[in-house]
Amino acid sequence: MSGNDETSKPLIDDDYILIEDEATALLPPRCEREWLVLVVDDDPDVHQATEFALRGMEVEGRSLRLLHAHSAAEARQRIVEIDDLAVLLLDVVMESEDAGLKLVEHVRRDLMRKALRIVLRTGQPGYAPEQETIRDYDINDYKTKSELTRIRLYTMLTTAVRAYRQMRAHEDMRRGLETVVRASTELTKLRGMQLFAQGVVGQLCALLDVQPAGLICAQEAHPGDLMSARVIAAAGPFQHLIQRPLEELEVAEIQSSLKACLAERRSYFGATLTLYFASESGCGLAAYVEVRRELDELDRHLLEVFCASMAVGFENVQLYARLVDQAYVDPLLKLPNLNRLLEVLDQAQSASGDLTLALLDVDQFSAINDTLGHAYGDMVLRAIAARLIKGLPGCTVARIGNDVFGVLGPGTQVHADALTQLLVENFEIESQPVRLTACLGLVEQAGSKRRGNELLSDAHVALKQAKQHQRGSSVCYSQSMGQDVRERMHLLTGLRDAYGAHHLFLVYQPKVKLSDGSPSGIEALMRWRKDDGQYVSPDRFIPLAEQAGMMATLGTYVLRSACQQLARLRVAGYTQLSMAVNVSQAQLREPDFISVLRKAIEDSCLPPEQLELEITESMAAEDLALLRHLLGEISALGVKVAIDDFGTGFSSLSVLRHLQAQRLKIDRSFISEMAQDDSIARMVIGLGHTLGMSVTAEGVETPEQAQALREMGCEEAQGFHFGRPMEELALLQWLAAPGPRV
Ligand code: C2E
Ligand code: CA
Ligand code: CA
Repeated sequence: MSGNDETSKPLIDDDYILIEDEATALLPPRCEREWLVLVVDDDPDVHQATEFALRGMEVEGRSLRLLHAHSAAEARQRIVEIDDLAVLLLDVVMESEDAGLKLVEHVRRDLMRKALRIVLRTGQPGYAPEQETIRDYDINDYKTKSELTRIRLYTMLTTAVRAYRQMRAHEDMRRGLETVVRASTELTKLRGMQLFAQGVVGQLCALLDVQPAGLICAQEAHPGDLMSARVIAAAGPFQHLIQRPLEELEVAEIQSSLKACLAERRSYFGATLTLYFASESGCGLAAYVEVRRELDELDRHLLEVFCASMAVGFENVQLYARLVDQAYVDPLLKLPNLNRLLEVLDQAQSASGDLTLALLDVDQFSAINDTLGHAYGDMVLRAIAARLIKGLPGCTVARIGNDVFGVLGPGTQVHADALTQLLVENFEIESQPVRLTACLGLVEQAGSKRRGNELLSDAHVALKQAKQHQRGSSVCYSQSMGQDVRERMHLLTGLRDAYGAHHLFLVYQPKVKLSDGSPSGIEALMRWRKDDGQYVSPDRFIPLAEQAGMMATLGTYVLRSACQQLARLRVAGYTQLSMAVNVSQAQLREPDFISVLRKAIEDSCLPPEQLELEITESMAAEDLALLRHLLGEISALGVKVAIDDFGTGFSSLSVLRHLQAQRLKIDRSFISEMAQDDSIARMVIGLGHTLGMSVTAEGVETPEQAQALREMGCEEAQGFHFGRPMEELALLQWLAAPGPRV
């Protein structure tokens, strides 16, 4: 290097450029193999002399590399460019008498370069800065050039370099920790594992000041199960692996280091970096980053802090995921729940398409649950869920209530026939074939701009209608149905008025002994005749009254009227007839039911054994314990009990055995099918007798049915063949001259 004249500048520049080139070619940035010292002096000889004096010298195992600036102005520029400059060997007098000191001020105050060590040199004594300045600007040393022998210069530089290294380490550490803290705060805002993992890697690279050449984050699905590990975030060449099993990672080396990290639950620091993030659940997370530079102690230390701090964030993300899970996933079936379905519906609303929402309500589910146990009920739900998911690929299948599923999908897939068809095949539960049906309520989105909850409520309206028909029914929502709801409201008001205006009354249908055709009793049935003379069917208004909370009032009225009627019949000489009264579930649940019953009997002075209450099987399914208790009390009063509509419910034999009932009434659907198949009628009669009950056949319409039932040993029959439900006067006539006897 020759720097004798003014032309030396470019040479030095070249030199510097050379160093830079080497640095990029051989060394990654910030890998400090050399201590960089900037010599600032307007005297070229000084540069040369310094160069000569320090040739071959090393400090702490690293050589010194001198860079050169020939004016304060040039030095300013250099300092900004060289981030890891260790020492400034600075001439005081250059462009001006205090150019050196001005530069010092600039370095400390404007550039905030705290770690950079500054050694001032001056040709002439007398330009020494004030003590204060030395302290304020943190100047390491002040020497006259003549003082600086080779040895002294070296010793002084060694001290300065050491100080620099220490301060720099401090600074880096502080900056690193700040990054970690910032990273944690940033990352905790990221919801979802994948975002978090990506965020971790981004922050990690920022911390290490590297561009990730490749990175992979893998997480175990089950604690300690390496085979279950999946890639949850990846960048660069590994991007395609996101959500794939770790096993599929082609680069064996990376795969094995991630696995080792997960297995041993610790981080590995090397040219490639594998970090372990522990989690409370035990499902560890491992991140692999190719950093392409050696990590020093500081890096490692920071990484450890980083991992510990990220592990907390990781934990939070998992916790959050669990919370989301709880809010949006049904815990039993792991299906989307109502909240989630509403979200999906709202999202679907903006997308155009012909989506249909179907609600599917499992028939008799509470009966299944109560008679066969909750575990069995769960199995039923699982079986149905599995069938729906398999049969409706691509559709959303949600569980939105106890036994109600919601299905959302294109109208070509989600329609009544398809859904009904899906359930036709027997289910297998506990290796037993089981037939399950469900009622369906459907609503087509059909470009309507209705919100999710509105669609859902329409579907509910349709479902409710379907449930009023027989099992397995389906109803598609139509505009008129909203009208139907209004009609029902109208009907309900009408019912209230009718009760007040005595438009509700009782009719009586006779029952006969099949042995000789003599009248054995009558059943009271409620009627509602509207002002216009039209009748409303009890099948229609009784469920309405139950829903509206009117049934207790109506039931009491029926009970008392029936008792009074029976008392009148007794007075008329019909002392052996029994009176059957239908009792609804809502009525039974009234806490004062027994006292109402007792009072009705007392007030009409009836022998209690001539009163018979008809209850349905489904009540046994609702609350067996309550029912058993009530039946005990009813029996204690001497009142009889009949199980109505037997065979249509889901009660099991064991339930039947526990009920104190004296009579079974075979549902009329089994009587009407007797000509084709009389096996159920036969079975029910046999069953009743086995349990010590007498049996009544309902809905007997032909002499053949009566004949067949008599041959089967059925005691009693009721139906249009013998007599229709009649008002008091007609009944008295019928009793005086009864219709067909057998
Ligand atoms: P249910 O208790 O099964 O009553 C028998 C129903 O079958 C009556 O219908 C009766 O008219 C009808 N029926 C009787 N014989 C025949 C026949 O030979 N063929 C056909 N096709 N039908 C026959 P109704 O009066 O319309 O009552 C319907 C249901 O409403 C009753 O079924 C009962 O569950 C309920 N209900 C009626 N009155 C009352 C009441 O006062 N209280 C309660 N809780 N429910 C009542
Ligand atoms: Ca009945
Ligand atoms: Ca019945």
